[in-house]
Amino acid sequence: MARIHPTADIVACPGCDLLQRLPPVPPGARARCPRCGEVLAAPPMDPIERPLALAVAATITFAVAQATPLMSLSAVGRSAQTTIIGGALEMWTQGQPITATLVLICTTLAPAAYLTLVCTLLLAVRRPPAPSWAGALLRLAGHARAWSLPEVMLLGILVALVKIADLATVDPGVGLFATGALLALLAGLATSFDPRTIWDRVAWSTQDTPRGSGASAANGTGGTTAR
Ligand SMILES: [Zn+2]
Repeated sequence: MARIHPTADIVACPGCDLLQRLPPVPPGARARCPRCGEVLAAPPMDPIERPLALAVAATITFAVAQATPLMSLSAVGRSAQTTIIGGALEMWTQGQPITATLVLICTTLAPAAYLTLVCTLLLAVRRPPAPSWAGALLRLAGHARAWSLPEVMLLGILVALVKIADLATVDPGVGLFATGALLALLAGLATSFDPRTIWDRVAWSTQDTPRGSGASAANGTGGTTAR
C-alpha cells in the first residue's frame, strides 16, 4: 500500500476527473495526473513578489495607456487624436451606446478592477495567514480577468490602421505603445500568478482545517507525484 502524505490535499484532475491526493509541491516543480498527464499544480519559484512587481508595473503602464493618445490621424489638412476613453465617448455620441459600453468595460473598467484586485490580494497574502476575504477577492479577480480584453482592442486598432493607411496619415501615440507593453506585462502576470498559492494561505473561518476530512470519500484513489 502506498504511503500517503499526512498533509496531502484531495483534488480532482481537470482533464480526467480522477480524484487523487496531491502532496505539497515545492516551488518550481510540477505535479501531473498519473492517468492522463494533466498538470495539477505548478507553483512558481516566486509566487508573491514577482507577480506583485508585474502587477504594479502593469498598473502604471495601464494608467499611461489610458491617459495618453492612442494615435493621431491626419487627412486633407485636418488632424485628430483620441484616447481609449475618448474613443468610447465618441462612439456613444455617435449613437452606438452598446458598443461604447462594451469597449469601456473590456478596455478600461475590467482591466482596472483586475489590476486593483490582484495588487490588493498579493499585498494581503505576503505574510500568511491571509485574511479570509482574500478568497472573495480572488473570485472577483477571475471574473474581472475574463472581461479584461485589451488584446482584442489592440488587434482591432492594428487592423483599422492597415485599412486606413492609404487614406490618412497615421502616427501611433504613446498610448498604443503603452497598451502593447501592458499586454506583455499581463501575459507575464498570468504565468507567474498562481491562485492556488493564494488559496493555500487563506485562513479558515474556524480553527478546524479540512485536511484529512475527505479521506473516507477518496479511498482507493491514485497518488500523485511531484516531478
Ligand atoms: Zn487526469
